[in-house]
Amino acid sequence: MGRAFVYVILGGGVAAGYAALEFSRRGISRGELCIISEEPVAPYERPALSKGFLLPEAPARLPSFHTCVGANEERLTPKWYKEHGIELVLGTRVKSADVKRKTLLTATGETISYKILIIATGARALKLEEFGVNGLDAENICYLRDLADATRLVGVMQSCAEKNAVVIGGGYIGMECAASLVINKINVTMVFPEAHCMARLFTPKISSYYEDFYKSKGVKFIKGTVLSSFENDSSGKVTAVILRDGTRLPADMVVVGIGIRPNTGLFEGQITLEKGGIKVNGRMQTSNNSVYAIGDVAAFPVKLFGEIRRLEHVDSARKSARHAVAAIMSPDKTGDFDYLPFFYSRVFTLSWQFYGDNVGEVVHYGDFSAGIFGAYWINKGQLVGAFLEGGTKEEYEAIAKATRLRPMVKDMIELERQGLGFALSI
Ligand code: FAD
Repeated sequence: MGRAFVYVILGGGVAAGYAALEFSRRGISRGELCIISEEPVAPYERPALSKGFLLPEAPARLPSFHTCVGANEERLTPKWYKEHGIELVLGTRVKSADVKRKTLLTATGETISYKILIIATGARALKLEEFGVNGLDAENICYLRDLADATRLVGVMQSCAEKNAVVIGGGYIGMECAASLVINKINVTMVFPEAHCMARLFTPKISSYYEDFYKSKGVKFIKGTVLSSFENDSSGKVTAVILRDGTRLPADMVVVGIGIRPNTGLFEGQITLEKGGIKVNGRMQTSNNSVYAIGDVAAFPVKLFGEIRRLEHVDSARKSARHAVAAIMSPDKTGDFDYLPFFYSRVFTLSWQFYGDNVGEVVHYGDFSAGIFGAYWINKGQLVGAFLEGGTKEEYEAIAKATRLRPMVKDMIELERQGLGFALSI
């Protein structure tokens, strides 16, 4: 027994929410679209989990951050889906997929069939076990990918005021969680193997700025080493973190943010994968004509760079979702996805945006001491990436525009002198 839909979105995260809005705007009939999600709640803006959700005062709670509030659009509460005749199958994991038969089998034993499938399964947090560290079922080790993780993290944080936390990982999750822990009056030590934080994106100079800012808030950094084991008490709770260099850090809680892995498992051997994700063309269509992929799980051609990339950021989840639905509903009017990569973060009173690609030579600009600064990346004589901390809306728009236009840059010293003025004059 089972149900049949014209369109099925597998996964109920950010991309699913934006795809649903686009379907409804373009006009679907009641009962045509279904979203299946392992999570028990309707799609929400995942970035809120490491920001507003962790605030000690007036924290963000659902329904306030259901999609699509991230782009000042409609907030799609469960009521919205009901009113629009979109079926939400929540708290339901799909355990296998058969793309030839066009069916999905849920863990509850239901077969759901589709004419068009959109894969929006996102990614899962990498676990320390995958790096050979054991003893990880301790109740005070936290990860952060979904609402259940965030709810658990809040509970652990509340029992740790004035106590010690160790944050493992110096990327997005580590940096945003460390800031939230400090705001919750917890002493934080960050541990990561790289020489500086946000190593995949920031230059050493930019990282130094953020590390100094964090230090001024009391955060300690231990860089260039990794965790080797935990000490636990008789109840199994972690009491200390032991690093590979022998350092012992007393810990009342541990937050782990060591990267993510796309949820491709259901489709391996059935459709083509690339760069760890599901390969799609410029219409977000996979190697199977009836199957599309969007968001963190999709590896798509970034026209601007002339290569396939998989991006793990909310803006690409939102825009790839819209593009897939446009390609499905209006195939003749929809060209190839032309996406300018965009990442952002907000911590403490800081806020940065990045557009494009961080390859080639770097030119820093602005006033680091005043907290308004940035960098341009120049590759083969062209501006390909731009970063800005502390900008205004107009300034962020200017660096986005400049990055999209990829102007030639002949004189790096002149570019440094002009700084933000270069982007503003384009
Ligand atoms: P997801 O939002 O992860 O959704 C995937 C969904 O699929 C989930 O609901 C999952 O349960 C479901 N699913 C997976 N497998 C199955 C299955 N077999 N059966 C049923 N359901 C399944 N990006 C930024 O650019 N800026 C930020 O500041 C930022 N902050 C972030 C903070 C946090 C805490 C996290 C976790 C991410 C953050 N991101 C940020 C990244 C951003 O949230 C992701 O890029 C975005 O959520 C990707 O959307 P998605 O729909 O592809 O995947």
